[in-house]
Amino acid sequence: KLYNEVQDLKGNIRVYCRIRPFLPGQSKKRTTIEYIGENGELVVANPLKQGKDSHRLFKFNKVFGPEASQEEVFLDTQPLIRSVLDGYNVCIFAYGQTGSGKTYTMTGPNLSSKGDWGVNYRALNDLFHISQSRKNSIAYDVGVQMVEIYNEQVRDLLSSDTSQKRYPFHYVLELMTIGLMNRSVGATALNERSSRSHSVLTVHVRGVDLETDAVLRGSLHLVDLAGSERVDRSEATGDRLREAQHINKSLSALGDVVFALAQKSPHVPYRNSKITQVLQSSLGGQAKTLMFVQLNPDVESYSETISTLKFAERVS
Ligand code: ADP
Ligand code: MG
Repeated sequence: KLYNEVQDLKGNIRVYCRIRPFLPGQSKKRTTIEYIGENGELVVANPLKQGKDSHRLFKFNKVFGPEASQEEVFLDTQPLIRSVLDGYNVCIFAYGQTGSGKTYTMTGPNLSSKGDWGVNYRALNDLFHISQSRKNSIAYDVGVQMVEIYNEQVRDLLSSDTSQKRYPFHYVLELMTIGLMNRSVGATALNERSSRSHSVLTVHVRGVDLETDAVLRGSLHLVDLAGSERVDRSEATGDRLREAQHINKSLSALGDVVFALAQKSPHVPYRNSKITQVLQSSLGGQAKTLMFVQLNPDVESYSETISTLKFAERVS
């Protein structure tokens, strides 16, 4: 029954833009953001040019300005997230240069304050509450996996056997906190490695209809991608260059996959990187994809902002 309602593929890819505010101490900086429209329009100004050539218009499903709250952003993703409990595969990822707010959107800056919670905590919390409210008709349980992909190597952030086990929903929030801690502990030790790795949280949901014993399965992938900034080839050497090459390659592989899906191409190149292999089940087919394109409004970020927007333009 569910599958009759599925829209065409293109309708299953959505792109939201989010612009972070200037941070305290940055208030005198100039912005590249010229205009944010109600219907997803965004106009960006080139700080080095004047006249009409200096402005470019981009179009998204929605643009969240610097004042948008975590709550507001979440509310726009909620229907998508809830569809996981009806048996859909959903993938949400954040793309942008380091410092543009990817982690802020996906996780939040401060887990001890609920108001700051990002998409992942809100999503799991919401799914937990909805599953509770259905408990007299459907019994849900979940499997959870958290991995980090660094230099095309996949590392488990939870003990690897968690993906084989089934858990009650509420326990997943705790597991996610453990995984995030494992990620950031690694990050400090290895000099902000977190910005140069992709992290993927996967929740596999199973629901058993208590009356008919029918089983439905859905999944949610929440992805905080590595920073998309270009690394100066003349400056980067050794490990740094290798990291940069892996990041470039994997982000363009992801772009190629989403582009192929948006074009309804018969061939989708999933095999070209670890990130697209890990996400394969939740990209394409009946799956629903949402990309957050994150921007830093600072004029100094202009060229990265344009390259981020071009990536988004290609897939939307
Ligand atoms: P990224 O993960 O893309 O490298 P972060 O999420 O770490 O970027 O954000 C960089 C900084 O900007 C952090 O200090 C973060 O708290 C802050 N920040 C990002 N987005 C927002 C926002 N929407 N509102 C307030 N602060 C933000
Ligand atoms: Mg980050």
